[in-house]
Amino acid sequence: MDYLRNNIGRVRERIERACASVGRKADEITIVAVSKTVDIAMVQYAAGLGVLDFGENRPQELVEKYNILPEVNWHMIGRLQTNKVKDVVGRACLIHSLDRWNLAEALQRRAELLDLNVPVLLQVNVAGEEQKAGVDPAEVSSFLDAIGQLPRVRVQGFMTMAPLTNNAEDSRPVFQELVQLRNRLRKGSYHQVALDYLSMGMSQDFEVAVQEGANLVRIGTSIFSR
Ligand SMILES: *Cc1c(COP(=O)(O)O)cnc(C)c1O
Repeated sequence: MDYLRNNIGRVRERIERACASVGRKADEITIVAVSKTVDIAMVQYAAGLGVLDFGENRPQELVEKYNILPEVNWHMIGRLQTNKVKDVVGRACLIHSLDRWNLAEALQRRAELLDLNVPVLLQVNVAGEEQKAGVDPAEVSSFLDAIGQLPRVRVQGFMTMAPLTNNAEDSRPVFQELVQLRNRLRKGSYHQVALDYLSMGMSQDFEVAVQEGANLVRIGTSIFSR
């Protein structure tokens, strides 16, 4: 598993360099190692190297891995069906993919039942890609206004995905737009909303995301692939 150690070291170095280039500190950034389809043994090995946050995009897989390794942080990063909400609430430390109102309502109902609050990020479809999930940037403000009606659902920030590309610079305007939206809406007063987290950047573009202000980066391939 030497390659895993090397990959993690290299990702950390690249994040440090990206931070240094804009005067940020690397400890502001949490690496969410995207472990979908990755064997639990590899997850345990990564945890041994100090990676404590993992991202899954399928509820079933999140549940299975959570049950084996409940002591690390499990992030739900993929599209969430309302009938799978029961599996994820109480297990995921953060749901990055709140993308529609009826999902928020389902989260509220489950959270009430379990008597907890659900930390979420609102997924924003900055790039406006048809096939991508997420709230339209123009609708984020009214979504945040309304979310006060669902007191168990706690919006902590935003998540976005840039279009697939070979050139990380293509993602920069997408990330910049999300940061601008966050900065603008931070001035508003929404009930039980904190806009502290920006989940943006994957293997293709995490350094650019860090330069633009991400504090959660979701990295799969660059960590887990040989
Ligand atoms: C798979 C996935 C990632 C990680 O992608 P890589 O290119 O492997 O780094 C990040 N975010 C989401 C939502 C994903 O599904």
